[in-house]
Amino acid sequence: MNTLPKISLAYLPTPVEPLDKLSAFLAGPRLFSKRDDMTGLAFGGNKTRKLEYLLADALESGAGTLITAGAVQSNHCRQTAAAAAKAGLKCILVLAGEPLGAPSGNVLLDLLLGAELVWAGSRDRDKALKETFEAAEEAGARPYLIPYGGSSALGAAAYAFAVAELLEQAPAPDWIVFPTSSGGTQAGLVAGVRLLAAGTQILGISVDEPAITIQNRVAGLASEICSLVGDSQDFDPQSILVNDKFIGAGYGIAGPLEREAIELFARLEGILVDPVYTGRAAAGLFGLVRGGFFSSSDDILFWHTGGTPALFAEAYQELYNEAQVDPAN
Ligand SMILES: *Cc1c(COP(=O)(O)O)cnc(C)c1O
Repeated sequence: MNTLPKISLAYLPTPVEPLDKLSAFLAGPRLFSKRDDMTGLAFGGNKTRKLEYLLADALESGAGTLITAGAVQSNHCRQTAAAAAKAGLKCILVLAGEPLGAPSGNVLLDLLLGAELVWAGSRDRDKALKETFEAAEEAGARPYLIPYGGSSALGAAAYAFAVAELLEQAPAPDWIVFPTSSGGTQAGLVAGVRLLAAGTQILGISVDEPAITIQNRVAGLASEICSLVGDSQDFDPQSILVNDKFIGAGYGIAGPLEREAIELFARLEGILVDPVYTGRAAAGLFGLVRGGFFSSSDDILFWHTGGTPALFAEAYQELYNEAQVDPAN
């Protein structure tokens, strides 16, 4: 694979570690984790890798301000704010909805990192983003648009390179399981596995959208990534593995399954997963293990994509009111 210009924002390689107690508790296949919650940039997460390439492009194009958008507790927005701070750029974040109560979780961090917040309110988020971008352009702020989730082919290519990083650390696992949303992470992993002939199955657990929507997006992005790194490939949406059975009550609405996953990870491994993304993907992984989806001889790598600041968001405080699992029993 050709490498692309990047600036350094992440501590790489991120660690790979066995999840022995969780594997034993579930009495299923062997579980491992790749810890992209430890990329290091202001609490880390999967957007840091993408931003290494997007920031190089922004700086190359002479940008003065990064603009992006997301949900209230967007990890992508928080990491973009941190990357902007480090690169000496301004940052404007367009967040869905209205501010609720005191800033908490990622919103608090966005503010600490110096980002300007624009609340979309009743406006459609795409429209609010467009208006914000145009206003910044008129004001001479030299805005650069970072796509939703950092998931252009350029951002997502970071996860193709991350597959190469993984293969230097560990034998190719049978499966990689992780939360999928804008599809960039999945597209990068799918492209990387194809280009490196790793033979690993890439299974995204959808946190919000129907499988077919994500499959189409991932297949398109994966072929764009391959072209970008100089090796054309086609991807059939049907071959992209997405499980949309764990969406529950919808994006960001955590329930008993997420809580159990958060508690099991915390109490058995000392690892924190979050209520929106990694807790939902972990709940999906546990559900599939318990349902006999994997073979007992499989090696399964849970790619931890970060998101832990959402644990401290006001919106999730009630989730932890009562302890639910006792792994000692
Ligand atoms: C953004 C995000 C994801 C989803 O990654 P995509 O590349 O948008 O599919 C997963 N986990 C966390 C913690 C995230 O912040």
